[in-house]
Amino acid sequence: EQDVAEYMKSLAIRVSGFEVPRPIKTFEDCGFSPQLMNAIAKQGYEKPTPIQCQALPIVLSGRDIIGMAKTGSGKTAAFVLPMIVHIMDQPELAKEEGPIGVVCAPTRELAHQIYLETKKFSKSHGIRVSAVYGGMSKLDQFKELKAGCEIVIATPGRLIDMLKMKALNMSRATYLVLDEADRMFDLGFEPQIRSIVGQIRPDRQTLLFSATMPRKIEKLAREILTDPVRVTVGEVG
Ligand code: ADP
Ligand code: MG
Repeated sequence: EQDVAEYMKSLAIRVSGFEVPRPIKTFEDCGFSPQLMNAIAKQGYEKPTPIQCQALPIVLSGRDIIGMAKTGSGKTAAFVLPMIVHIMDQPELAKEEGPIGVVCAPTRELAHQIYLETKKFSKSHGIRVSAVYGGMSKLDQFKELKAGCEIVIATPGRLIDMLKMKALNMSRATYLVLDEADRMFDLGFEPQIRSIVGQIRPDRQTLLFSATMPRKIEKLAREILTDPVRVTVGEVG
């Protein structure tokens, strides 16, 4: 059995926060369902990446998280896999309408990438995923959202449009992801993000990922996350 401290050092990881779940070393350690393990195997993911080793047990334990890791480190699966577990854990899925998981990303390209990654893991669970971003017909998106979904992947501006059109309600949303928060701020989405967060129940689980942590993002994190665990992998801003 490898020494955990030694293992963490080898991953160049800094974790702050008390009573933080230990990092996992394999996907088997996560207690995922056979279905989800199959989907992971189908992607050819043999073992979790360093950010996944740290973030998966923290998010699966229900804690809020601030994740910092460079591009290409596997952050998407770090929030998508626990999102699938979170949704499958809901006692009465059909009782209400509207998404349970809400993911905000800065650009349509990123939102689309996250959508594709999410579909790979949600498909076998019968979880419906909607992508909501500019460049697609608002009417089509309105209809799709009206038909219902468990996960919405969105750029902030278009999600606000859909909320104004009452295409969806957020009463069932309990898992919020802000991906690439610094880029969303750079693109001027702070008011939209604050509006979206304000429409989601405060006892939600919130995940914030950012490559850098300027004061504005720190301030937002302090306001909208509850007792978050901070995970930094490698050398980032
Ligand atoms: P980030 O959001 O941190 O920039 P992504 O989530 O987009 O990174 O992942 C980068 C690439 O790594 C993607 O092609 C993804 O499919 C792949 N990937 C993610 N997790 C694993 C894993 N555990 N094993 C192998 N490849 C992975
Ligand atoms: Mg990413």
